[in-house]
Amino acid sequence: AAKRAGRNGYAIFDPTMTLSVLEEAQQRADIEHALEHDEFRVLYQPVVDMTTQQLIAVEALVRWQHPRDGLLGPYHFIASAEANGLIVPLGRWVLRQACAQLARWRAESPAAAGLHVNVNLSARQFQYAGLVEDVAEALADAGLDAASLTLEITESMLMADIETAKETLYALRGLGVRLAIDDFGTGYSSLSYLKQLPVDVIKIDKTFVDEVHIDEDDVALVDAVAGLGQALKMKTVAEGIETDAQWDTLRKIGIDHGQGYLFGRPAEQERILEMLAVTVA
Ligand code: C2E
Ligand code: MG
Ligand code: MG
Ligand code: MG
Repeated sequence: AAKRAGRNGYAIFDPTMTLSVLEEAQQRADIEHALEHDEFRVLYQPVVDMTTQQLIAVEALVRWQHPRDGLLGPYHFIASAEANGLIVPLGRWVLRQACAQLARWRAESPAAAGLHVNVNLSARQFQYAGLVEDVAEALADAGLDAASLTLEITESMLMADIETAKETLYALRGLGVRLAIDDFGTGYSSLSYLKQLPVDVIKIDKTFVDEVHIDEDDVALVDAVAGLGQALKMKTVAEGIETDAQWDTLRKIGIDHGQGYLFGRPAEQERILEMLAVTVA
């Protein structure tokens, strides 16, 4: 949690902090109120092909349009929602929004035909027994094919209870959705498990990207992950690309896809539609 606070420069809910019963109840009530009053929003960040810069996918990233505090990023409320369980309905809402949005883009633009949408799952959502049903329902209600949806999970979520995780992943794979490991390299995943899991995409964490253009050690690490991806037939995505120098280095290493402010910040759906229009032109 300290690392996250440092990275983003603002205070966050720290799950190790002891909250009074009253504070916990207040946070729960605030998030419940926000869900009921439609205060959450989803922004979409481009994921592009490293060579052609073509838009491959968008990642759905939740925000809270707080009536008093303004637009809040996930670090202000995800941990809290995770702790009190409201992440399950909130995550379901994001998932449904994202699927419906991709279906709308498809209806509005021929360039969206091959576009994918990525949705983050939290640990609690991943453990929730109704997850597979929620995903199936979100796809069916949006009229979206399962292969257009990629669910992002982290290494720690996989390794916490590997047998259950494996079952859940295979059930999701059974629906036809794709699976990505987010923030790869920051947790510890065992290579032997990785080999057994139906994972399609590895997202290399931003911490390996930050200095990849100046640090040989990062080059070696990213190169190793690129090799791993190739060996296991998984696509690799580099997160947090901000400069041309980082992009050049990662492209030369052979990373498949890129995401970062260089290609586009998380944006409103209208902005993505504009990007699609450019793609077709
Ligand atoms: P993540 O899934 O690893 O998402 C990438 C984060 O990096 C996003 O932060 C994105 O805005 C940020 N980012 C992307 N490119 C750059 C860059 O070039 N430079 C910098 N400095 N940052 C970049 P965001 O939107 O604040 O989300 C933070 C985390 O919150 C996400 O990390 C994800 O773990 C979580 N999150 C976001 N939306 C959801 C959601 O709907 N459900 C769940 N469970 N978690 C979510
Ligand atoms: Mg993610
Ligand atoms: Mg990530
Ligand atoms: Mg992250």
